[in-house]
This record gives sequence, structure tokens and C-alpha cells, in this order.
Amino acid sequence: MSPRSVHITLLAVVVAAFAVAPTLLSGFTVSLLNDIGIGALVGLGLVLLTGIGGATSFGQAAFVGIAAYTTAWLTTAQGASPWLGLVAALVLTGLSALIIGLLTLRLGGHFLPLSTIAWGLSIPLIFGNVDGLGRHTGMSNIPPLHLGAWSLAEPRAIYYLIWALVGLACLFCYNVLHSRIGRAIRSLRGGSTLLASVGADAFRVRLMLFVLAALLAGVAGWLYAHMNRFVSPSPFDLRASIEYLLMVVAGGLGQLSGAIAGSALVLILKNGLQDVLPMISRSGTQTQSIVFAALFILLLQQARAGLMGFVVRKVRGRFGSMFGAAQVAAPAEPLARRALPERGRRILEVTDAVKRFGGLVAVNGVSFEVNAGEIVGLIGPNGAGKSTMFNLLTGALPLTQGRVEFLGTDVTDLPQRRIARLGMARTFQHVKLRPHMSLLDNVALGAHGRARSGMVAAGLRLDRRQEAQLLAEARHQLARIGLADRAHELAGNLPLGTQRILEIARALAADPVLLVLDEPAAGLRRPEKKALGELLRKLREEGVTILIVEHDMDFVMKLVDRLIVMNFGSKLVEGVPAAVRADERVQAAYLGGVAVAPVLQSAPAAAAAGRSEAVPAQGGGSA
Ligand code: ADP
Ligand code: MG
Repeated sequence: MSPRSVHITLLAVVVAAFAVAPTLLSGFTVSLLNDIGIGALVGLGLVLLTGIGGATSFGQAAFVGIAAYTTAWLTTAQGASPWLGLVAALVLTGLSALIIGLLTLRLGGHFLPLSTIAWGLSIPLIFGNVDGLGRHTGMSNIPPLHLGAWSLAEPRAIYYLIWALVGLACLFCYNVLHSRIGRAIRSLRGGSTLLASVGADAFRVRLMLFVLAALLAGVAGWLYAHMNRFVSPSPFDLRASIEYLLMVVAGGLGQLSGAIAGSALVLILKNGLQDVLPMISRSGTQTQSIVFAALFILLLQQARAGLMGFVVRKVRGRFGSMFGAAQVAAPAEPLARRALPERGRRILEVTDAVKRFGGLVAVNGVSFEVNAGEIVGLIGPNGAGKSTMFNLLTGALPLTQGRVEFLGTDVTDLPQRRIARLGMARTFQHVKLRPHMSLLDNVALGAHGRARSGMVAAGLRLDRRQEAQLLAEARHQLARIGLADRAHELAGNLPLGTQRILEIARALAADPVLLVLDEPAAGLRRPEKKALGELLRKLREEGVTILIVEHDMDFVMKLVDRLIVMNFGSKLVEGVPAAVRADERVQAAYLGGVAVAPVLQSAPAAAAAGRSEAVPAQGGGSA
């Protein structure tokens, strides 16, 4: 059986099982399944936000509460239809999330989770203290749902709505994760520099994710209110939020199915404990809290990936080929390309760039230009300020002083992602890949700025044409570096040298005017270096401009049109390779400037003899 038919068969079996379940199970079990479905909706949001996006929320139950109270108030006090309640609940939950997100999502480190505790505590307090919301007694007589003439008052009836919504929500989230925005979401963990370098706005992506998670909680809250027909503050308090978090940790934070598995696990266990605990102790709820706390600690210690993490690992191990990513590449017309500037036109102009780190002047009044179609090398001993210079001109670091102009635009104060979108793509000295993502996804991330489709389009699969184009572009760039047949392997499994080459493919996927490469050949073997040199020359022929830092002098001298030498933050010399090689100041810098002085052969003599092994070669990679 092909992987596709295995998927379809499995899906059909699952859907059929869910459809007949209420007719076979007891009323109690169906009610439990309803609770599990509602918990799974909240859990889905948490898997996305916390598990995949890396932003821990201790306040998700508050969003459930906002939705539940909104529809409760509208349908009881105002006599509105529950469907109007749904719309209002989602609008209010979404708006609350937008405001809370704008205020808190920029907080780094532990401050974000701490702030989520603040709203997780305060929102339920509002429910408990407003007269119109019934204070601590809550609101009752909430009407049941109706679909036309079909009443969903019975658990066996609302069951179908709940699980249909869970299914649709899973599908939506799955589609989002496998899209342009999804790649950005999966890249959120590990810092925002990489995302900015491909033209993506990490804050915006995180905010969208936060709102999506809140909306899923909102749907859950609306269902909760009309299923139980009663709301009170306690199911939406901090303890409930923590329980939702426990659910997804237990189920598996890494995959959407973890939300359903976790909800089932926790609610079934809770039910079991409610039967058993009263026999052991009279203070049932306290004992339950202790059991849950112990379970939480045990999970974090022993099974970080949760139940589904474990299952997925086992299934992959045994039936890997059946579930393998054997997708056939959809044919796609190529993405629109940028018009490259005519050869020889000045495209980059750095004027008097200064960067201070406290007392250290890493870059000290450096000026240079780069013209379209040339390869310019930036060399100098370790610590000379080369990588800092790259960070300044790409916008990854702000300049202390000076000015950078790119393609006629003053980019000195532009954010990194805006500069990237103008056509500047880069690689990093310390490789920045997403090791848990495939080679294909890593490279496709590079083309982020060349497409537009957002989260809603992705969730509804309206972005498929564009997505096929992005993946085709990524495949094309992978083929260029000779990794096409490994497209679905994880980037983290590649040797470090190959990871550097993968970064180049990612940069190329952006269709750059200027390619900025920080030590791309470090860690490569001789044939790989040769292939890299050929690729860069070919790019130059195509009209791409390249700025490169590289320690392998043999490699650099043969490649570049022009060299800029930096030492102690300043520009030392600039010129064609032969002239730079012969320059005494350059030799002195390499001999005197570094603790581990490289063996310098008689450089001018070597140059005269037309050999190029001369001049310094330093082990790249570190520093
Ligand atoms: P190169 O790439 O030429 O080896 P770098 O640009 O990485 O040199 O570093 C230049 C100097 O600036 C070094 O002394 C380095 O320690 C310092 N430096 C670089 N980045 C930072 C930073 N973020 N904070 C403080 N000092 C830094
Ligand atoms: Mg460096």
C-alpha cells in the first residue's frame, strides 16, 4: 500500500469509530468524551503556542472563560442566539489575545510565562466580582445549541458538534504548520535573528500564533458554556490553566495529536482518581492535586516528549517507510525573480561604520563599496571585526556610528528583515539552521520573503499554489548544492560543513542581489571546497554579487575580484588579491596580530611564481 492510501484508510477508520462511538458507549462515557474534545481544543492551541512556538502560557483557561462568559451573558441576559454568542465570543477572545499579546509577547526569557500567570489569575477574578456575571455563583440557564431543528442538548448530540470541531481544528492547525507561516512558527524557537535574516517578522508570527491559540480556547469555552448550561469562575482559574498545560505535556507537546491524547489521559485519570481517592483520604481534591503534581514532575523527568512523542518514535521506527515523506513534488511555475542591477553599478556603500561593545571598538570607522556582479573578500585575523561588520550591514546589529546604503536606500536604521527583503541574504559564522526541520523546510524558509500567504489562507489550504512554488524553489536550490536526494532528512543530521552549504542554499532561495557569506568553506573537505568555489563563480556569472569572509587564503585568492583586509576593527588594505598578498602590512598583521600565528610562506615570492598556497591560512570555524 502506498503511504497515501495508508493515511486515507487510517483516517477513514478513525472517523468511522468516532461516528459510531456514541451509539455503543454509555452516557457517562460520551460525556467524558465531550469533555476530552473540549480539552483537546484548548490543548491544540497550547501545542502550537508552547510546544512548537516555544511560548509557555499559564493563562489559557482565562481565554476559555472569556468566551464562555461572553456567550453566557449574551444568551441569558440579552436573549441572543448561541450562534451570535459564538461570533461575539471569538471576537472578544481574539481581541483580548491581541491586546495581551501586544503587551507581553516581546518579553523575553521567563518574563512571558510570568506575565501569563498574571492574566491567568486576574481574568477569572473579574468573572467572580462583576454583578452582571453572577459573581461567584456564576450564570445558569444557558440555552442549549440547536442545529436547525436538531437540539444538541443531549451529550450524545453535542458530541458530534464537539468532535467535528476538533477534527476541523486539527486539520486547520495541520495545514498551518505545513505552510510558509508554519515554517516560521517552527523556527520561532532558537532566536529571531534567523527569521529576520529571511525577511520574516518573528513578533508578528508569534502574535498570530497567540491569537490562534486563544481562538481555539474560545471555541472550547463556547462549547463548554452551552454543553454544561452553567458557568462559574473556577473552571477558568490558574489551576485550570495549569491543568491544560499538564494535558499537553502528558500527551506530547511536539505534535497535534498530543492535544487529544493528553486531554484523554488527564481526564480519564482524573475520573479514576475521583473514584479511588475518597476511599484513601477524606480530602479528595487536595490528594488529587498532589497526585497531579507528582505526575507532572515524573513526566518532565522521564518522558519530555509525552505519550504521542513516544508513539510517534515507535511507529516511525517500525513502519517508517509507510509513513515516510514520499510526497511527489507538485509541478509549479517558478517564483517571480528580482531584476538584478546592471553589472558594475554600486549596490552597497558602507561609510565610516563604527561598532562599540562597551569599551571594545569592534569596528572602527570602516568604509568600503561593493559593485554589482563582483565577489569581494573580507579577510583579517580572528577578532578583526569581520563578522561584526557583516552584522552591521545586514542590520543584525545596530551601528554605533556611520551609514550603510544598499541599492540606493539608506538602510542604516532599517530592521534586519526589511534589509533582507530588499535583496540581501546571508549565512552565519555560527550556523543558524533549524536542526529539527528537514533540509527542504530549512531552505524553503529562505524564500519566506518572496511569498505573501498568511495563516488563514494556509489553514484553509488556499495557499497551495504558492506553497508548491516555494517548495519547488527550495528543491531547485537543494539540487544546486547536490543535496536534492536528502531533502526530507533533518538538517541537524548533516555534518557541520554541509550545514554551512545548506545555509547558502537557504540564502539563495531568497533570490538575493547581494549574498553575504561568513566563512562558508570552514569545515569543508577539499572536493567540497572546490564545488563551493564553482557554485560561487557560477552565481557571479548569473549576476549575483557576493561578499565573503573566509580564512582559507588559497580558496579566497582564487575566487575574489577584490579583497578588503581588516585588522583590530579597522580597514588595513584594499585591492586585488595579488597586491594584497604582496602588502607588507597584511603580512605583519597576520604574523603579529594573532596568538597562534599561521605559518607564512614567502608570500610575494609565491605570488610572483603564480602559486597561491602562500599567505596565511587559519583554521576557520571558531571565534
Ligand atoms: P572576526 O569575525 O573578524 O573574527 P568579530 O567581528 O567576531 O571578529 O569580533 C570582533 C571583536 O568584537 C572581538 O574582539 C569580539 O570578541 C568582539 N565582539 C563580537 N561580538 C560581540 C558582542 N556581541 N559583544 C561583545 N563583544 C563582541
Ligand atoms: Mg567571524
